Amino acid sequence: MEQFDVVVIGAGAAGMMCAAEAGKRGRSVLILDHADKPGEKIRISGGGRCNFTNLNASPANYISQNPSFCISALRRYTQRDFIALVERYGIAYHEKTLGQLFCDGSSRQIVDLLLNEMKQAGVELRLQASATQVERTNEGFHLQLSNGVVQCRSLVVATGGKSIPKMGATSFGYDLARQFGLNIVETRPALVPLTLEPTMLERLGSLSGVSVDAVVACGKTRFSEAMLFTHRGLSGPSILQISSYWREGSEIVVSMLPGINLFEELRSVRSQNGRQALQTALSAFLPKRLAQLIAETEKGPANLADYSDKHLRRIDEAVNQWRFRPAGSEGYRTAEVTLGGVDTRELDSRTMEVKSVPGLYMIGEVVDVTGWLGGYNFQWAWSSGWCAGQAV
Ligand code: FAD
Repeated sequence: MEQFDVVVIGAGAAGMMCAAEAGKRGRSVLILDHADKPGEKIRISGGGRCNFTNLNASPANYISQNPSFCISALRRYTQRDFIALVERYGIAYHEKTLGQLFCDGSSRQIVDLLLNEMKQAGVELRLQASATQVERTNEGFHLQLSNGVVQCRSLVVATGGKSIPKMGATSFGYDLARQFGLNIVETRPALVPLTLEPTMLERLGSLSGVSVDAVVACGKTRFSEAMLFTHRGLSGPSILQISSYWREGSEIVVSMLPGINLFEELRSVRSQNGRQALQTALSAFLPKRLAQLIAETEKGPANLADYSDKHLRRIDEAVNQWRFRPAGSEGYRTAEVTLGGVDTRELDSRTMEVKSVPGLYMIGEVVDVTGWLGGYNFQWAWSSGWCAGQAV
C-alpha cells in the first residue's frame, strides 16, 4: 500500500497552496483531483485574469457564523505574502478597482505558479483520481481511491464549494465532514445574480444590458458598485455582493443615482427649461433606455413644466429608492461561491485541523468562511491553505 505523510483532496487554490507548503517542510505529499486539470476555477476566474487577492483584505470582508474565525489565518498569511510570491514569479499585475489585483496577462500564470511551487517541493499530483472511501486508522487515514489504496498521517480536504457543478464541484467535503460527525452550516449559493418575477421581468425587459453605478442595500448592508439589468433579472458587482446577504422574501433597495437629489435637479430643469420632456431631463443622469422606461411608466404630461412637485418626488423615489423582492437567485449554476460549509467551531483557527479528529484538516471554500467579491475568496484559500500546510 502507498504511504504518504499528507494527502490533499482537491487541487484547487487552497489545496495546491497547502500541498506546496507541506512539501517545503519535507513532508511526502500526494494531491488528488478528480478533474483532468488542476486549478480550473483559478483559470476561469476574474474573466480569465484571476483577481488573485485584494490589497484591503481584512476579516470585515468575510461572512461566517463566527466572523472572528478567519482573523488568525488572514494574519499569518496575508495578501502581501501572496503578492510577494506573485512578484517573485515576475507575474505582472494591476489594481483594477477597490484594491482588486488582477494578472495583466492570463490567470494560467497563477495556476503555473502553484504547479511550480508544488513541483519544487516534491509534491505528487494525481489527476482523474478521487477518494471513494475514507477511514480513520491508528496511524492516520486509509483512503480507497478510484485506482488504488493509500495511507496517510494527515488528510486535508480542499474540495471547494458547490458552485459550478459543471466544473467538477462535488459535495465530497461536506459528506466527509458529516461522516466524521462535524456540523455543517447550511449552504447556499452566493455572489450570484438575482432573478425577478416574470411580470416585473417583462416590464424591465428592454433594459437587458443596461448598467448603472448604484448603491444596493439589503437590511443594513449596502454595496456601492455597478448594477446590470439582465434578461433574467439583475447582476453586476453590487448585486453579486448583496446576494450573499439576501434571503428569500426580503426586500432590496436600490439607489440608481446615489448622492444626487433628483427631485431638486428636475425642479431646476422645470424652472429653467419647462418645455423639456421628462425623458430628456432624465437622460442627463441615467442611461437612455432607463430614462425612457421611467418616463413611459410615469405616463405624465408632455412638458416638465406641467409636473407637480409630488410627481417629481415620486420619480426621485422610483430612481433612488427602488424597492423590490427578488424571485430568487440563479443558483449554483452561476454562483461564484458557496455560503456556509464546515462549521468553524469544529476547526482550530490557527491550523484548520478538525478539533475532534486530529490529523484531519479542512481548508478553502468548504469551510464556513465566504469572502466578498474582489479577490477575497482566493485570499482565504491561500491563507487557510498556507496555515494547514505549516501544520500537517
Ligand atoms: P476550488 O478552487 O474549487 O478547488 C476544489 C478542487 O477540488 C477542484 O479542483 C475540484 O475538481 C476538486 N474536487 C472536488 N470534489 C472532488 C472529489 N470528490 N475528489 C477529488 N477532487 C475533487 N475568487 C476570487 O477571489 N477572485 C476571483 O476572481 C474569482 N473569480 C471566480 C470566478 C468564477 C466563475 C467562480 C466560479 C469563482 C470565482 N472565485 C473568485 C471564487 C474562487 O474560485 C473560489 O473561492 C476558490 O477557487 C476556492 O478555492 P478552493 O481551493 O477551496 O476550491
